[in-house]
Amino acid sequence: MSADATSAQAHGFVLPQTPPEIENFSAYIHIPFCRTRCGYCDFNTYTQLDFPNGASIGQYAATLAREIEMSASYLQGVSDAVAPRIDTVFFGGGTPTMLPASDIAAILEKLVENFELAPDAEITTEANPETVTHTYIEDLARAGITRISFGMQSAVPSVLATLDRAHTPGQVRKAVGWAHKAGLETSVDLIYGTPGETMADWEASVREALDLGVEHISAYALSLEPGVKMARQIRTGEIASINPDMQADFYERADEMLSAAGLQWYEISNWAGPGHECRHNMVYWRGGNWWGYGPGAHSHIDGIRFWNEKHPVKWAQALEAGEFPIDDGEVLSVAERSQEEIMLGIRLAGGIDAGAFPEALLDELAREGLIDVEGGRVRLTLRGRLLADIVTRRLWAL
Ligand code: SF4
Repeated sequence: MSADATSAQAHGFVLPQTPPEIENFSAYIHIPFCRTRCGYCDFNTYTQLDFPNGASIGQYAATLAREIEMSASYLQGVSDAVAPRIDTVFFGGGTPTMLPASDIAAILEKLVENFELAPDAEITTEANPETVTHTYIEDLARAGITRISFGMQSAVPSVLATLDRAHTPGQVRKAVGWAHKAGLETSVDLIYGTPGETMADWEASVREALDLGVEHISAYALSLEPGVKMARQIRTGEIASINPDMQADFYERADEMLSAAGLQWYEISNWAGPGHECRHNMVYWRGGNWWGYGPGAHSHIDGIRFWNEKHPVKWAQALEAGEFPIDDGEVLSVAERSQEEIMLGIRLAGGIDAGAFPEALLDELAREGLIDVEGGRVRLTLRGRLLADIVTRRLWAL
């Protein structure tokens, strides 16, 4: 295959004519459909399923296949080059499990046709508990999915109602059980600090997540963009405001409970049993290469960052015209890459190399209880994890 001039043309940004030479990368597949929109959600997702021009849910996998083919043609560069290897695949959304399992299988097959898939590839899909059945999960496992991450958010019905979630706690328990039976690794996402949530509610959710026997738990503080339904409800006084001090207490309690149960934090919002860290997310946090497929998906290939047209129809139209559906992009400078390395690396339990920072600055941050410096690494303390943005800005200002 060869990278021709047409395929390298994007809408507002042109990929370099000579493709970056990469040996491996990760694939992110965005599925922009949801049954209902949750009150806190600002993601690029739609409850409308019937878009024109190949963007409807029924044609989505076929349109995505074109994007995969184009990326392979571009990355392979010259006819005798070896296609780069894919180490991890992540289906995110939206709700990937809105697609039939056969579409997920077809997308994976398309990746395998066009690239080399690592024999031990981690292949994750996000899922909402109310969208899956026992058979569906078995079909996903047969298709090659190795890991499933459920949007649980809470085990407390009143908290789920405030978040506008469509599932019940019982549906999470069933879905995780089916995933374990199918031999999949499992993870759940939790949200803390929902208006009205008490410490007892939060502890019940963490306890339930642990009782599920999942290998990985993500916990995110609720934060709201101004345009989402819950932000409006707060403005009109319909629900209480978010309390950041309570969120800090919730975080500390979760860390305590999860660590006691053998799940260690490895990134500020992520805890895992030994060997169960999400490899795909580690690629993002370590500044690796990934190609994002689907509307609004972001990519990072060898210091070139680009992102797709956000609307499914614009995305599909570009592909139909034989163009990359890229909205815009940029080539990161050395300084920008190093700032990103600090911002993302400091969030990891392994921390960052201490050598790049003046000793006086590190001493100051350590005296304030924000970091530990040991074995040449700078690592956030528990207090530092709660104030990671401040630590990052001070490390940037060295
Ligand atoms: S299920 Fe996820 S992506 Fe869909 S609306 Fe809810 S939070 Fe957003």
